Amino acid sequence: AAMRETRTEKTKTVCTFCGVGCSFEVWTKDRKILKIEPVSEAPVNAISTCVKGKFGWDFVNSEERLTQPLIRRGDEFVEASWEEALDLVAEKLGTVRKEHGKDGVGFISSSKITNEENYVMQKLARQVFETNHVDNCSRYCQSPATDGLFRTVGMGGDAGTIKDIAKAGLVIIVGANPAEGHPVLATRVKRAHKLHGQKLIVADLRKNEMAERSDIFIRPKQGTDQVWLMAVTKYMIDQGWHDTAFIQENVNFFSDFQEVLTKYTLDYAFEQTGIKKETLIEIAEMIRDADGTCILWGMGVTQNTGGSDTSAAISNLLLATGNYRRPGAGAYPLRGHNNVQGACDMGSLPGWLPGYQHVSDDDARQKFERAYGVEIDNKPGMDSVEMIRAADKGIMKAMYIVGEDMALVDSNANHVDQVLSNLDFLVVQDIFFSRTAQYADVILPAVPSLEKDGTFTNTERRVQRLYKALPNLGNTRQDWWIVQEIANRLGANWNYSHPSDIFDEMASLSPLFSQANYEVLKDWNSFFWGSHDGSSTPLLYVDGFNFPDKKARFAMSDWIEPVEFPTEFDLHINNGRLLEHFHEGNLTNKSAGIQSKVPEIFVELSPELAEERGVLTGSIVRLISPYGALKVPAIVTDRVQGNELFLPLNSVLKESAINFLTGPATDERTNTPAFKQTKVRMELLQKE
Ligand code: SF4
Repeated sequence: AAMRETRTEKTKTVCTFCGVGCSFEVWTKDRKILKIEPVSEAPVNAISTCVKGKFGWDFVNSEERLTQPLIRRGDEFVEASWEEALDLVAEKLGTVRKEHGKDGVGFISSSKITNEENYVMQKLARQVFETNHVDNCSRYCQSPATDGLFRTVGMGGDAGTIKDIAKAGLVIIVGANPAEGHPVLATRVKRAHKLHGQKLIVADLRKNEMAERSDIFIRPKQGTDQVWLMAVTKYMIDQGWHDTAFIQENVNFFSDFQEVLTKYTLDYAFEQTGIKKETLIEIAEMIRDADGTCILWGMGVTQNTGGSDTSAAISNLLLATGNYRRPGAGAYPLRGHNNVQGACDMGSLPGWLPGYQHVSDDDARQKFERAYGVEIDNKPGMDSVEMIRAADKGIMKAMYIVGEDMALVDSNANHVDQVLSNLDFLVVQDIFFSRTAQYADVILPAVPSLEKDGTFTNTERRVQRLYKALPNLGNTRQDWWIVQEIANRLGANWNYSHPSDIFDEMASLSPLFSQANYEVLKDWNSFFWGSHDGSSTPLLYVDGFNFPDKKARFAMSDWIEPVEFPTEFDLHINNGRLLEHFHEGNLTNKSAGIQSKVPEIFVELSPELAEERGVLTGSIVRLISPYGALKVPAIVTDRVQGNELFLPLNSVLKESAINFLTGPATDERTNTPAFKQTKVRMELLQKE
């Protein structure tokens, strides 16, 4: 008999390769991806995509996908049934909880899984294990930005939409490289700059593509952005260029703030940052003259010991100049992962319940206590960094890690390796056998976005639905289903049959989402959280800032100097994204089209340094920090300057992954590792 012909299906999905949140139709036949077709209905990108969104999807059919639960037997993993694996996970985690109490088990949720899956992860931690020890990888990137915004304006999201950025008279990008990290967002800035006279200022250690296009490009010394931001703010206030009316009406603590600024003169800024007075004055004039300023920032700011305070300094500058509450102005932290915003919104954070209701807020907490039928601690739990520290001390005994390659993406990876390998019990839920998985006792095979229904929330707070485009591969399961099975084995009585059930429960407990549901989000529609009545709001703070008196607050914080290294570590090593690859590379290095373009990681060094050390493009160098060493090929380029190195962060190999160099220092307020504050010495291993 003739084989039944399968039809070509077209399914709407949302890209998972960055926080811009492009959506498109994926054309499939069975499990084959025929093409990615961007369509004009897509609200963020219309007919654009970048190389990752267009060509990055082969990994879903990779031979290396996990397809069956695995259980450790000695040094080996053996295949198991779902019953067997889930029973074991429930029994072991339950026993650790009983024997070691609330601090015994930690939960890492994922910025790649859906909102609904993040919601159930935090619910598993809070309801079934009665602990707030749940976190996600925003700890490694954007928590400081969120903290700086919470302190100043009261909400941790982009002030407006991506489209609004094009309306700004001036865009300032600090410590970010959107041309590679957020490509479709960057094209909006490029277009506005080229065609509509928008001005562009870039502050970065590396002359990236946006820097090359900018009107002013500054290279402040590593870890000093806060100083020049405060100096520009002070200078503008001294000149009377601040927005007095806006401040009077909208912002508290102006006089205290002026006091904090006293020391941040242009001379002091020059001393600390190396940026000339005239340049800072030019920046101040540009902000004065612009009809609306947006400031975009990324991990060059946040992954520093002063990451939160620098983020607050950005928001302070915007408040002082009246650059909030209108399209084309405001703060734009650039979220990296497709759903890092959503993971936080859903309460996969130690201090926040879903919808940004803090565990210390009695009314909010009691509402969840009633809904979950348990008591919830009124103090934040451990964050990812604290969990690793607690495990190191033998306090935390077991972890359940979903979709996060902690052994690669946390700083000081050699140390993390050791801690994870000493856990009594580790569950890893992923789509690939990640570096972290090698330490697991049970590995649970989940599915990537193309095999899921659910929602993601992009950098501009836009919630969008994705529809299942492919049947599950092998014996894999949806993340929410796996979490529910574990919860129910431990006595919960969850009954979700579709992600929409989970979304509805979340929305019923979270005022910010009260008017959102799957109907509202149908097809190409979307919803922006941020309004107190739970309606969709593209622009934040239209009805006032998120404090009881509706007024924003200047945050007071002095700059702290970056971490010191012994003088033998004479080169600063920066890290960041490459256009083609996604984060640590676990996905894109399994996509043939991408891998063929950038098969190997390299370190960039300046022509001056190359000449001094006798290094050529293609030479192999060894980089040694106090915490580890790498061996990588060199590329000589004037994108970097002086004793400044740049290593892309997209490597899964121990020989070239940046975190085998990074150390234990963190941002004081959020514990985000100071990935960017790393110094090394270099040895030339092979000249040609
Ligand atoms: Fe995907 Fe980001 Fe590229 Fe859009 S810009 S296609 S969301 S990686």
